[in-house]
Order: sequence, then C-alpha cells, then structure tokens
Amino acid sequence: MPAIESIDTFLVDLPTIRPHILSMATMMRQTAVFVRIHCADGVIGTGEATTIGGLSYGPESPEGIKLAIDTYFAPLLLKADAARPALIMDMLGKAIVGNHFAKCAVETALLDAMGQRLGVPVSELLGGRRRDSLPVAWTLASGNTRQDIAEAEQMLELRRHNIFKLKIGKRSVEDDVAHVAAIKKALGDRASVRVDVNQAWDEASASRGISLLQDAGCDLVEQPVAAHARNAMARLAQAHIIPIMADEALTGPSSAFDYAASAAADVFAVKIQQSGGLHAACKVGAIADAAGIALYGGTMLEVGIATAASAHVFATFPRLAFQTELFGPLLVTEEILAEPLRYADFALKVPDGPGLGVSLDMDRVAFFRRDADRKSFHGGTAPQAARG
Ligand SMILES: [Mg+2]
Repeated sequence: MPAIESIDTFLVDLPTIRPHILSMATMMRQTAVFVRIHCADGVIGTGEATTIGGLSYGPESPEGIKLAIDTYFAPLLLKADAARPALIMDMLGKAIVGNHFAKCAVETALLDAMGQRLGVPVSELLGGRRRDSLPVAWTLASGNTRQDIAEAEQMLELRRHNIFKLKIGKRSVEDDVAHVAAIKKALGDRASVRVDVNQAWDEASASRGISLLQDAGCDLVEQPVAAHARNAMARLAQAHIIPIMADEALTGPSSAFDYAASAAADVFAVKIQQSGGLHAACKVGAIADAAGIALYGGTMLEVGIATAASAHVFATFPRLAFQTELFGPLLVTEEILAEPLRYADFALKVPDGPGLGVSLDMDRVAFFRRDADRKSFHGGTAPQAARG
C-alpha cells in the first residue's frame, strides 16, 4: 500500500490582467492554495483551491483553506492508503464538516496521484471522458461598456471565445440592462451574451430585469437572487422564457437535489469546489441530468491545476448544453504550469496525460509563493515561463 508520507500546502498570488469587477468584489489578483500529497511509491499528487475576493464570495478564504488542511486534514491523511481515494474522502467527510473547497483540493491531489499510478487521466477514473475539448466562455467584467466590447471583439478575432458572460448587479437594473443591450447589439449573432447577477437582486428587481434582458437578446441569467431564495428562483424560472441558472445555491448533491425537486432552475452551474470535490460535482451533474436540467461547467477562477481538474469532470458529462467558463488561467498574467493548458478554436483541450495531465512549474511557484524570498532569485525576476 502506498501510504501518504507528507502534505505540503502553500499560497501563490498572481496578478489579474485587469481589475475584474463583480457585484461582491473587485479582484486585482487571484490567490491559489496548492496541496501536494507525497506518497510512499514516489508519486506526488497536486490539488488546488481558490476563491473569489477573499471571504466576499463564500465562507472559505485561501488562508483559511491552508490552515484547515495543515491543522485538521493533514493528521488524518498521514499514513492513509493513497490507493484508496474514495475511502479517504469518506473518512474526511465524517471527520470534517463543510470546508468544501479544501476537500476538493485534497481529492484532486489524491486522484492526480491515483491517475499517475495507474497511467490513466483523471476523467477515466471518474467514469470515462465523452469529449476531448470544452467550449469556453469569457467574462467581460471591466465595468466599462466600450472596453468590454473591444475585449469581446479581440476574443472573437483570436478565435478564443464566442460566448460572453457579463457580471452585473452593482448598478441599477436599467443601467445594467443598457450595458448588456449595447454589448449584444455590437456583437449580434456572432456571440452568445449571458449575465451573472451574483445574487444582487431582490425578486421584484429580478423579474423586471429578466424581462428587459430577454428583450435585449441575453441568452442566460445566472443566480439573479440570493442563494437561499429557492422559491423565488422557482417562480422566476417558471415566469420567464430565458433560462435561469443556479450557481451559488448549489453547494453539493443535497442542494442540487433540493433545487431539482423544486424546479428552481433551468440550468445548473457545476463547480468542483462548491460541490465539495470531483465525485460530488459528478453527482450534481447526474442529478441535473436525471431531472432534465441543463448543465454548465462553472469556475471559481481557478488557475491551471483546478481548471484541469474541472475539465476532467466536465468531459465526463453526457450533455453540457451551456458549455463551460474554464478561463481562469487566462485571467492572470503569470503561467504556473510546466506546460500551459491549450486554448484554441473557442475551446479548452482536456489534458490527456496520466492523472490531471498537468503539473506545476516548481521554479515559478517558488518565485510567486506568498512566503517566497524573492531577493534570492537572480535580480528579483521570475524564472522564464513555459509558452503554450
Ligand atoms: Mg456565478
């Protein structure tokens, strides 16, 4: 049995390409927590957790995730049989309440190690992949209509994205709808335009906003009201033709079942961290599928490791009607993978090597770690990144 010998965790701070403006936070950087699980057979599995804007999106922060893994997860993991990831996750589930993002990072590392050990991609451990590439939406969140249109035109020109999600909910409903309508008018049939309100509206504002968005040619409205407002979501989904998507409301299989049973959404945004891990995300997908609810592959703006993990999960879904938003690595200025993920023809290629099929560039990671002594690097400059 390959016992778990040690666990490292560290924080890496990466600047964003521009301020990313959401209803609950403005992001200038993204912080990733990396987990490396060292096994007795020499295999090292890697996992990642991120969140959005510290504690402004949910109850776990990067610093808290690191503390939870170091203090509470690691003693339970040490000496456990790394060849039994499902049993380890059951044991963690019994011993630790909540902490979904931390659990997801640990499960990712265990499955990465298992895949490397068996010589198969993580998607094969999750039931088998059904697709090798995933269409990827881009989020326009500069806060400026003209800049967003220019950014969308550039993405179309590069053939990188033709699905655009607009982050709204910070301004008045009318100002937000005018912003969406101007972008949809500029892009026309060349792109799908969608919005994410991130819970910012009450039900009355949502009902008015969704009607106006429908007239503006918007294709999808994500989490218009608070995560706990399931009945309001059900009424909005029933009253409007435009599909309503649940995101923050879905915190794993139980809430997914509750939402499906209440017909409280037309589409589920599946996120591996919010679900509590890769298998939990597969269960959310299965519940949606059984209920006739469409699927969308969501992101917590993860960088390379957890984006690859998400891609392995979404590649197993029989249907993925609303595509994915796995653009996290493109929102930061720095590459931290030894070989970058490949984006081309409006899609992300699902890695096909053993495990996650991607690995950290440990020299670059050493430079960008929050606790790094950057003066020890030549001239204080980062080691050269791999180019994809
Ligand atoms: Mg969202």
